[in-house]
Amino acid sequence: MQYPVARQGAWKIALLVVLLALAVAFPGCVPAKQSGRLKVAVSIVPLADFVRQVGDGLVEVETLIPPGASAHTYEPTARQLAFLTKAGLFVTNGLQLETWASSVVDKVGKRELLKVVASDAIPRSRLIKAGQYGGEKDLTGPYDPHVWLDPPLAAYEVDAIAAGLSKADPAHAATYMKNAAAYQQKLKALDSETESRTATFKKKDFVALHPAWAYYARRYGLTQAGAIEELPGQEPSGEKINKLIDDIRRRKINVVFAEPQINPKAAQVVAAEAGARLLFLDALGNPDKPDVSTYIKMIQHDTAVMEEALR
Ligand SMILES: [Zn+2]
Repeated sequence: MQYPVARQGAWKIALLVVLLALAVAFPGCVPAKQSGRLKVAVSIVPLADFVRQVGDGLVEVETLIPPGASAHTYEPTARQLAFLTKAGLFVTNGLQLETWASSVVDKVGKRELLKVVASDAIPRSRLIKAGQYGGEKDLTGPYDPHVWLDPPLAAYEVDAIAAGLSKADPAHAATYMKNAAAYQQKLKALDSETESRTATFKKKDFVALHPAWAYYARRYGLTQAGAIEELPGQEPSGEKINKLIDDIRRRKINVVFAEPQINPKAAQVVAAEAGARLLFLDALGNPDKPDVSTYIKMIQHDTAVMEEALR
């Protein structure tokens, strides 16, 4: 009695062929299904990765600040504004990293747009005051906004994202929660791995072009001893540069870290004058670059770069 089963199989294949032919003939059918996914606008690349990890196939993510650009200075494009008008959720880091965000929401006239400020999930006691480590007081806000560079704090941001996705799309809430928990396990492994790797560093101090590394440094027992530019592109004074060069020599600091998103000129000058190395850390990542294509890969890459100078 194999015949009916075979017949049924053949019928299914025939149906598939018809459906595929329809999809080819009417390509509009395919995007229609895709547009059923929850549209999520996200400010920065690492948070976009968190949204993809938690949303796994259920979300369509648009990163507003493109890879390679700085988070502090940014203007959305017309296409991004159009995406925002259709978005069901808008995810930002907060702590005044995205000072442009509220005016953008005003611009698209969607006051009811559901928003997630990912850093809101982090206990205030875990935040670092701006300028507390490395450099003077940051001009943008009372706290250092670069929280995602500490993996356990990133895990809180993943909680906030899972809650936001569940609110925007309650039908898939259980999946979002399950995915978030699985990803947080990976962050835990990343944290342990980074902890054992950094524990072997003989040197602990470094200077950064822009002070993004205070959370990472605190977590792994390192010291961001100074920063050249408080905000990217904010030219330091000659007096400040001279003081930094003195500090680097006096503390025997051997490395200055620049970032691919920021003009390294000032860092090159300081490193050359002080006799320190200039290496590049990535605080945001870039989906198009294999070594920093995800948040986890980016932290591993940054740790390897630090290791090169500090071990
Ligand atoms: Zn920054």
